[in-house]
Amino acid sequence: MNGLLQKAHKSQITTSKKSLSSELFDEALRWIPGGVNSPVRAFRAVGGQPFFVTRAAGPFLYTIEGIQLIDYVCGWGPHILGHADKRIVDALQNTAHSGTSFGVNQPGEIELARRIARAIPGAQKVRLCNSGTEACATAIRLARGFTGRDLIVKFSGCFHGHVDALLVAGGSGQLTLGQPESAGIPSAVAALTRVLPFNDIQAARSLFQKEGKHIAGVILEPIPANAGLYLPLPGFLETLRELCTEYESILIFDEVMTGFRVAPGGAAQLFGITPDLTTLGKVIGGGLPVGAVCGLSEIMDFLAPLGPVYHAGTLAGNPLVTAAGCAQIDALDAEDAWCRLNDYGKILSDGLRDTARAAGIPVQVSQLGSMLCIYFTSQPVRNLDDAKKSDTALFSRFFHSLLQQHIYIPPSQFECWFLSLSHGTQIIEDTLQAAKQALLTCS
Ligand SMILES: *Cc1c(COP(=O)(O)O)cnc(C)c1O
Repeated sequence: MNGLLQKAHKSQITTSKKSLSSELFDEALRWIPGGVNSPVRAFRAVGGQPFFVTRAAGPFLYTIEGIQLIDYVCGWGPHILGHADKRIVDALQNTAHSGTSFGVNQPGEIELARRIARAIPGAQKVRLCNSGTEACATAIRLARGFTGRDLIVKFSGCFHGHVDALLVAGGSGQLTLGQPESAGIPSAVAALTRVLPFNDIQAARSLFQKEGKHIAGVILEPIPANAGLYLPLPGFLETLRELCTEYESILIFDEVMTGFRVAPGGAAQLFGITPDLTTLGKVIGGGLPVGAVCGLSEIMDFLAPLGPVYHAGTLAGNPLVTAAGCAQIDALDAEDAWCRLNDYGKILSDGLRDTARAAGIPVQVSQLGSMLCIYFTSQPVRNLDDAKKSDTALFSRFFHSLLQQHIYIPPSQFECWFLSLSHGTQIIEDTLQAAKQALLTCS
């Protein structure tokens, strides 16, 4: 039995009623709605009590009780180098001494914009903001302002942050909560959003034939990773590109999760398709609050102050964010990061698949680069409906068994796992050992 498993038997973290984490969560419930600032952190999908973390380093989180967990959430995507990477921490410390926000131009804004424009296909100009949500809100406003049309097309299971018009058939925490839509969104707003099934070429064609002249833009995660993880079928992204070109609608790739993660140029680079606009976040901020919209100058120049589409932000392009983002991108560039990340993803996903097969549990393991997901179903997963067939009760038992062995995977079937450069092969081997144990006990 390896060291990790031995340690696992000594302490259990979420089940104990008197743990520090559970006391803190009670206190959090008093002051914060649901005790969390983002719903999926509440562990509703898997049950049990969430834990509190006070420190993180490399592939590890350290709970307030001092327990070391192998982390496959990585801050929900930003920490592609691992937690508290020295290059990012140094950049932050050096920058903070000179001020945290100026409210006027600072050179780091150009540095980050240039790195993004060089990597992301079609990104001629870049506007920074504070979150992926804000980036997506701005992108659809820009699509509407540029085309003078109102309709936005999205895909069920794709998540674009908590933007009113896009909180229709979303993914991420929405699925986790089993709430397909949010209260508080006027029906008049939702009525301007068309929702299509992902990977359904015919449905996209039919909608464009019917309403193409009114469609301002199509927004999608080219690699949907907020309902677990599934991939675009050959021809799907190509068709959307052709339809948008033919009907003069704006094609928006939401690469908040995939930009600089699956490749420097995200899914657009991997699949060789250039969108008109791209939204970014997560990796480009090195763990600080960030978002970006980028794309063709012709469209981007519709933003204020040049154009009539408004977007602004007190903290947009602040020096801490741009320093952390540039440090992270430079570190990725400096080594063959994406190749190594893909190797890690492959070893872990192949291992999970083999382990499940040996345990006689039907699973679908999807993986692309350093992102992966294990669905407990015997059927292939190509869209949200397929994903929903996964046995979520089995997933919850799997989650808790791994957590007891000090391995933290996303606390929901409908979120994907992230690896970082700091997850070496030994950690992945330890994880596979634990997964074997988990699969044997949870089925
Ligand atoms: C995380 C995410 C968002 C939202 O970003 P926030 O920074 O949380 O607002 C939008 N789109 C996708 C694809 C995401 O993964």
